[in-house]
Amino acid sequence: MFTTSKLLAENHITGIFSERQGGISPAPFDSLNLGLDLGDSDENVQHNLKQLCLGAQLPIPHRSEQVHGTNYLLCAGEGIQHNHQADILITRTAGCAVAVRTADCLPILLIDTQAGVAAAVHAGWRGTVQNIAQVAIQKMQAFGAKAEHILACLGPCIAEPCFEIDIDTGKQLSHSHPQAHLYIRYKNDKAWANIQAINTLQLQSSGLKSTNIESLSLCTSCLPERFFSYRRNGIQAGRQLAIVALPDAL
Ligand SMILES: [Zn+2]
Repeated sequence: MFTTSKLLAENHITGIFSERQGGISPAPFDSLNLGLDLGDSDENVQHNLKQLCLGAQLPIPHRSEQVHGTNYLLCAGEGIQHNHQADILITRTAGCAVAVRTADCLPILLIDTQAGVAAAVHAGWRGTVQNIAQVAIQKMQAFGAKAEHILACLGPCIAEPCFEIDIDTGKQLSHSHPQAHLYIRYKNDKAWANIQAINTLQLQSSGLKSTNIESLSLCTSCLPERFFSYRRNGIQAGRQLAIVALPDAL
């Protein structure tokens, strides 16, 4: 049902990325769809979410309305689906979980166990252009986190060979960081970008230690048995969830 962050686990934190097996949703959302308003029933999604959290031993996470922006939502209490537009969900409440939905975009889980601040970030190409990783770190710092203590796990997303974009998108991405151009390839009138690498640069420039950044090499587009992919499945693609929780006792 899910892949676990080894880096977070080593630090006694549960950070997971759901996969598409083990749920009850019918095709084309088979089977662990966690996205609402796609055509799958709300009951299926609720059931899938409960089973996932049970399996991962996580509380039901807070979720937001994701809009490819850089707004954040500070979450506490019982996890719900908020009617609030935000692509960064932060918690500083013990026992509270936050999550983002993706289907090719990059999910980033962040935590400072010493300060007790965790975040889930939805970084697509638009978020990457807006430096969402750096914005998330700044927000965490505003809540007491220290960059040198923050652990990051970059989850499954569409990998560079599959992430064909237009030249203008490539140029926008290349302006997001001084070294971003190293991870954008151009050929004829097309470009390809490694958004995981570009977000890693942004996190490093925010002060995160390289040893505190884990990147899972799992391409959502190349692994149809394991992940939903918007590029592969279009508007009927299901959604996976990336979740991180602050433990009950730190
Ligand atoms: Zn791929």
